Amino acid sequence: MDSKKLTTAILLAMLIGGILGGVFNVFFMEYAIISDFLVGNVFHVIGQIFISSLKMLVVPLVFISLVCGTAALGEINKLGRLGGKALLFYLGTTALAVSLALGLALIVAPGQGFDLGSAEVQSFTPKEAPSIAQTIINLVPDNPIKAMAEGQMLPLIVFSLLIGIAIVMAGEAGKRVEQQFNDYNAIIMQLVVILMKLAPVGVFCLITKTFALQGFEVFKPLLSYFFVVTAALLIHGLVSYSILLKIFSGLNVKTFLKKMSEVQIFAFSTASSNATIPVNIKNTEKRLGVDNSVASFTIPLGATINMDGTAIMQGVATVFIANVYNIDLSTADLLSVILTATLASVGTAGVPGVGLIMLAMVLNQVGLPVEGIALIIGVDRILDMMRTAINVTGDAAGTVIIAKSEGALNQDIYNNPKI
Ligand code: ASP
Repeated sequence: MDSKKLTTAILLAMLIGGILGGVFNVFFMEYAIISDFLVGNVFHVIGQIFISSLKMLVVPLVFISLVCGTAALGEINKLGRLGGKALLFYLGTTALAVSLALGLALIVAPGQGFDLGSAEVQSFTPKEAPSIAQTIINLVPDNPIKAMAEGQMLPLIVFSLLIGIAIVMAGEAGKRVEQQFNDYNAIIMQLVVILMKLAPVGVFCLITKTFALQGFEVFKPLLSYFFVVTAALLIHGLVSYSILLKIFSGLNVKTFLKKMSEVQIFAFSTASSNATIPVNIKNTEKRLGVDNSVASFTIPLGATINMDGTAIMQGVATVFIANVYNIDLSTADLLSVILTATLASVGTAGVPGVGLIMLAMVLNQVGLPVEGIALIIGVDRILDMMRTAINVTGDAAGTVIIAKSEGALNQDIYNNPKI
């Protein structure tokens, strides 16, 4: 199947899954054959296998690909420059995203006049988010195998960068090992290709299951919250990135958005930036023309430290919860939300639901009741899927912009509609 047909098939799988899941939810969930057998077993098992097989590729792919990329860069200076640009772009866009969300939420004022009794409240006990000091200490793995086994992205990135640098410094021996790594890289990329062929089935099962289980009643009291988050996500995804892409790279924005749809669907159906890393790396390299030396570094880094969509949810949720509890937010509070939401995204992994843990941190910071999170949990799964799609789009936009500025972007590939 060529790439265009595959994208269409994945898109169709998502649409049909969404409709079928919705129909199951409304009409058929009382029948055991649908709820237990189809949704609870068949779709659940296939969906989980699909997610596991994506996750299976993350650690080997990031390690091998990043070692190749660093060794190919050949200079520590370049690496420092890449890291600096990535950090600036990722933190800058996250701060922009949360500011946009706060602005929109302050105008629309979701949650005002909210009837606390009408919401379906689920309990929520936030896990501790790591402190900034601990995040910095954790950058260097005391045991790289443990970091890999636990899928910790930042220490894995540091370890892979160091191996790549050592390969460059090791002369002849390094050259031989680099060749080997390049071969492994070609093989692991092939694995991504194989997996993508299974994507229509995997996406269909995941989406059908989620929509079948998602109660739509919970949306009613939360419509204003849901729509403000959705609108801010759309504005950031379509407008902010387009402007940044145009200003900093001069590249065609439509091409970028078109070529991102497949990655976005992966992110949407898995709700995990981490699980989407293999597909995002492959897409930025093979279809957007970014050199491996940039994509192998900035995509996994972005999956961990860049969460614009998540930051948007936090901005809107903060205003929503403040409105529900009738608490005024001062300008200092708003600035504090921007800072905390931006920094919180650095230390937390791109996995489903992590945004709520970060939100607990933000609410604590401005003295809002953390129990307020229980109000919005009911609609969080769908919002998680949408914000993850924006998160991965931000990672790719940053990667393309940085690659262009480093002369590491092949415009013939980027502009070719057939690839
Ligand atoms: N699921 C999101 C991600 O993986 C994080 C979140 O917003 O919960 O990027």
